[in-house]
Amino acid sequence: MKPTSHAFSANAHQALHDTNLQQALAKAGAGFVDKRRSAIDGLPEFEALRVSGRAIKDHALANLDHYLLRFEQQVIANGGQVHWAETPDEACAAVLDICRAAGAKVVAKGKTMVGEEIAVNEALEGAGFEVVETDLGEYIIQLAHEPPSHIIAPAVHKTRAQIAELFEHQHHQPGLTRPLETVPQIVDEARQVLREKFLAADVGITGANFLIAETGSTVIVTNEGNGDLSATLPRVHIVLASIEKVVPTLEDASLLLRLLARSATGQETTTYTTFFTGPRRADDADGPDAFHVVLVDNGRSQMLGGAYHEMLRCIRCGACLNHCPVYGAVGGHAYGWVYPGPMGAVLTPLMVGLQEGRPLPNASTLCGRCEEVCPMSIPLPKLLREHRRQEFVRRLVPPRSRWALAVWAWFARRPRHYRWSSLLAMGLLGWLAGSRGRFRSLPFAQAWTASRDLPAPQGGTFMAQWKRRTRHD
Ligand code: SF4
Repeated sequence: MKPTSHAFSANAHQALHDTNLQQALAKAGAGFVDKRRSAIDGLPEFEALRVSGRAIKDHALANLDHYLLRFEQQVIANGGQVHWAETPDEACAAVLDICRAAGAKVVAKGKTMVGEEIAVNEALEGAGFEVVETDLGEYIIQLAHEPPSHIIAPAVHKTRAQIAELFEHQHHQPGLTRPLETVPQIVDEARQVLREKFLAADVGITGANFLIAETGSTVIVTNEGNGDLSATLPRVHIVLASIEKVVPTLEDASLLLRLLARSATGQETTTYTTFFTGPRRADDADGPDAFHVVLVDNGRSQMLGGAYHEMLRCIRCGACLNHCPVYGAVGGHAYGWVYPGPMGAVLTPLMVGLQEGRPLPNASTLCGRCEEVCPMSIPLPKLLREHRRQEFVRRLVPPRSRWALAVWAWFARRPRHYRWSSLLAMGLLGWLAGSRGRFRSLPFAQAWTASRDLPAPQGGTFMAQWKRRTRHD
């Protein structure tokens, strides 16, 4: 996917005027938030689990080389193979080699954000394979030729009517029951179409929520069971996973799964939680003949031990997106690449470059809600500020903003000047606003006043009010 993060402002503008998108976002947002809240209220030990979960990830990251090698040893011992990929190109090449060696024509694919990151669909289709997305959300956006707009609900930007229309235009198989007026009718039709594809697929690709070093297992969670069908019906199963997904033991993965389900969808446990441990053994009833894990780095080793190290704790639950006022207003496509919302605003500049992803860390109010709800306690606002700092250091900030920051920094280092100048500015703004007490337009604040009034300052400067309050206390 070619990034368009540099155009966040234009993308956001378009999103704000898209009636269908606004309708879909309004419906989805509150649902996620309420369900998470009641799931967490029902688990008094949630905060304790959060502390333990963070410790597990911190330990795994501090010993990443050890646990990855242990994971590889166990996968091989189980009869599988591990392929190490430093870049997206290397990861795609490994997948293509496996598919060619298997003589594959059709590839059934479950949802994998790393797959989006390395653009595996484009690589497979470019090499002549038919790729079928089997997660319902991913399938919808594949038909619509769109990227996902949410990391756990890829088609959250679409309304029911839009999906029904899409199916009516794209599905032509005989025997389909219509009309498509309700969600069950839509899901039923997708099921009928996708079942044929599962049976025709030679290779199945899934992602992994966790990799378990102790057993060489990979774990996925789905609510549709499509991951199980993608992995067990085709002859070959490929797991695409990024390196930070590894955890030491089964017990560690179980604890993280409790946090993941509640934070993501507000469920106590996801409907299907599946552990894959190698290819089919002699006495297994089903399963693939071959089992491959492609481990993707794509810049993660560079993050280890650095300013963005804590981002590697992310378990891709989506809670930060669901609670972000900016994501809630503009949706995921405005972010212009694979990862949206607060976690995307941190990850995207690291993966596509700060020059391209520069608007994203600035498209935040830094309200801190994302950090509050993150089950891994990732300090997202701090990481966003670090991007802003880097931007300033690398002189990527436009001259006008640099100049404004330099002026502010000069005053901030001189408290007496700061107090006097803010008092002066307050008086001047109050006088300019006159009896209305508001501005309809103001130079340097035109982005604000284009759609709303700006109130003139009232009640004294912050420092004066603070002084008054401490005197009374
Ligand atoms: S940053 Fe935290 S809240 Fe956001 S997706 Fe990752 S784990 Fe979930």
